[in-house]
Amino acid sequence: MEIDKTKEVVLRCAIIMVGLPARGKTYMSKKLARYLNWIGYRAKVFNVGEARRQEIPTSINNADFFRADNSDAIEMRNKCAMSVLQQMLQWMKDSGPSIGIYDATNSTKARRRLILEHLMAVHNVNILFVESLCDDPDVIETNIKDVKIMSPDYENVSREQAVEDFKQRIKYYERSYEPLDIDYDKNISFLKIFNLGSKFIANKIKSHMQSRIIYYFMNISVLPRVIYITRAGETNGNMMGLVGGDDDLSDRGIQYARSLAEFIDRNNMKDIVVWSSLMRSALKTCDTLKPFVATVSRLKALNELDNGSFEGLTQEDIRCRFPEEYTLRENDKYYYRYPSGESYQDLVVRLEPIIMELEKVSNVMVVCHQAVARCLLAYLLDEPREDVPYLDVPLHTVFKLTPHAYGCKVDRISFNIPAVNNYRPKPKGLVSVTSFDESRLRRKMSYSSLTPTSTTKL
Ligand code: ADP
Repeated sequence: MEIDKTKEVVLRCAIIMVGLPARGKTYMSKKLARYLNWIGYRAKVFNVGEARRQEIPTSINNADFFRADNSDAIEMRNKCAMSVLQQMLQWMKDSGPSIGIYDATNSTKARRRLILEHLMAVHNVNILFVESLCDDPDVIETNIKDVKIMSPDYENVSREQAVEDFKQRIKYYERSYEPLDIDYDKNISFLKIFNLGSKFIANKIKSHMQSRIIYYFMNISVLPRVIYITRAGETNGNMMGLVGGDDDLSDRGIQYARSLAEFIDRNNMKDIVVWSSLMRSALKTCDTLKPFVATVSRLKALNELDNGSFEGLTQEDIRCRFPEEYTLRENDKYYYRYPSGESYQDLVVRLEPIIMELEKVSNVMVVCHQAVARCLLAYLLDEPREDVPYLDVPLHTVFKLTPHAYGCKVDRISFNIPAVNNYRPKPKGLVSVTSFDESRLRRKMSYSSLTPTSTTKL
């Protein structure tokens, strides 16, 4: 049957940030884009501040540039804001289903009306305004000192001068700031976030995507904390190069579990919570940790990628006995689903609730497995989808992740305990595919029925 392309509806979403400076707009925009890309959409942040710095170098480190009566500067700022909006619109038109995040103060009714007019001109765009309000002086002071004055705006300025200048900039914005209004804006979709998420108001939420974004914002927090991610200790199956399996720890794996317990004890991490998969190796590793940590939770969602009918085989077995499957996987490792098993994409869907919990919990150690660790690290470190199955996550190594303003610092702590290394790098170029295009097509069709991908409708 021919597909009638004229009947296809491609939905696009625009997220318009609103708020005074130092209210976490860029923080939330970047985090949202990272999350949406991770779960399979195509999202991008368009930041007006960055464009301003590039286009108008004279605007830097001078609050006067943001005065409401500085008409020359206002003209330049408007031009810059509109040019970034146009870039976002063009990107959304070119990208098909996509989510553009417009990161600017958008602090007046007139500006938001103008943005709406531009967006309405794009066919089928779903618009959500997200406003961050914060009147806690301590939070704002911290945001200015820890983040805002690190911007290139203040490269050659003393810390004290930079703080003063930024506070003055906020004052200029405050004079003309018009928050989203429940009555005036009753017909538009918006989310208002108060004081770091202590209260939310959502209005006219029209789509699943908007609800999903709101749900995400309701889960994130700015808690200072550390996330540790490690694979369970080496197993006997690892030593034999087996795919999957639910094996016991090898002697070296047991040694790692003991060393991990010592590491926790030595670093006085007794308040840490530990999350373990339900697989034998993780449970055994965590048994050793129990006396030194606050709690150990068992979470089935952390179980390793299900290798389906290929559980217990080696890569060499699969290559020789199922060359077609082997080739399909080599050429498309992220989307490849094992017969009766899972793909990396399936795993991301399974791990989404874990990510929501991870956003809220204080210090945590996740004891899991190679593919699971790759997916979690990809979310935290904003790794592109195609690289996820090739992230190098060796055994007997702890990844220590410390979230900061716009990302995560990562330290790799290697324990000096030998283990097998089954890492296989990304193949250079396509592995040859001969006569099995049909099975490839079959499998591709079953992916798209499962979750959104960058090519499905939003
Ligand atoms: P803006 O883009 O609004 O000028 P930034 O995103 O650059 O502000 O500020 C980053 C800081 O904002 C981070 O240190 C983060 O902890 C903090 N932050 C994150 N969310 C919020 C929020 N909802 N309200 C206030 N501050 C926040």
